[in-house]
Amino acid sequence: MAHDFIYTQPVKIFFGEGKFGQLGSIMEELGVQRCVIACGRHFAPEARAMQEKDSRIVAVFGEVEQNPQLSGVVETARLCREFNADAVVGVGGGSSIDTAKFAAAIAKGDGEAIEYYHGEKPFPAERLTIIAVPTTAGTGSEVTQVSVVSHGSEKRTINNPVFMPKAAIVDPILSSTVPPRTTMNTGLDALAHALEGYWSKNHQPISDLMAVEAVRLVMQNLETAYRDGSNMEARANMAYASLLGGLSFANPKTAGCHACSYPLSEDYHLPHGEACAFTLDSFVRINADERLEELCHRAGLTGTEELAERIAALKKLAGLRSRLSDLGEVNMEKLCHDCAVHGLMNNNPVHMDEAALRAMFEKLA
Ligand SMILES: [Zn+2]
Repeated sequence: MAHDFIYTQPVKIFFGEGKFGQLGSIMEELGVQRCVIACGRHFAPEARAMQEKDSRIVAVFGEVEQNPQLSGVVETARLCREFNADAVVGVGGGSSIDTAKFAAAIAKGDGEAIEYYHGEKPFPAERLTIIAVPTTAGTGSEVTQVSVVSHGSEKRTINNPVFMPKAAIVDPILSSTVPPRTTMNTGLDALAHALEGYWSKNHQPISDLMAVEAVRLVMQNLETAYRDGSNMEARANMAYASLLGGLSFANPKTAGCHACSYPLSEDYHLPHGEACAFTLDSFVRINADERLEELCHRAGLTGTEELAERIAALKKLAGLRSRLSDLGEVNMEKLCHDCAVHGLMNNNPVHMDEAALRAMFEKLA
């Protein structure tokens, strides 16, 4: 029997090949008259070409970095004010979407970005519309209220309803040019979202259903998408899996594996997906129980052991770093401490203190 739960999903999702080409009519439907596009350098020329054809695109901030900086948020928000925009469209991986979210949330405020960043000032009541357009199949940021932004070496994950997009445009064609290694990193991030939403202490029945389907799709399509990026069926299935992965953790939040990903990214510079993948098979074994076994069966696997082995094999296939020796000199004390005190660790179904984390990492020596 299902327990009590609250399920929220306020994002209008437009899914399908070629959907991004309908941005104009989607903006019209949402009542958007003037938007700023935030994207990385790779997409910037295309964004500028779009701007020439559609007068509703009033400016482009095309300098979003891999770990998005607060300075990029400030510049995007400045463009919004200068051109009196009523929406920000984030096109890219999590970085561009997170930049768009933050800029839209503060553009109408009278405070400094850093004050909102540090929680010294509440976000303004008036906000711009956020339209999220993922180009990788991984972060799920298009359906969550999370924005991860760095200020210098400080990296903050801010969870706030002000960051919830009004619409997500998930167009698998946009992911067709993503290189193999990024396809693997982001695909394993999507898998981590589904598994962590499922085993989070706050898991709930609707999210569980989506997690099972996301795991099934990743297991059936990630290797193909990695080996043959032009296989649109695999790309479309991964885009859908990533969306479901995002929806699986949006309410329950992630757990131990994501908690460990932050120190691994900050101190050892692993990209987010690779950092999550680093401990994912370990956490599958640590969190293995009847429920996880059931998920594996429903996702077409023989059990948790096969799931863990296949994750390890995918990492190996793409040459992802998966042992401590791949990270250079490791400060074990600090790594275990930082993982243990991360807020998301409280969501892990198995209690993980510094000693338990040390035992886990020692197996990865
Ligand atoms: Zn993630």
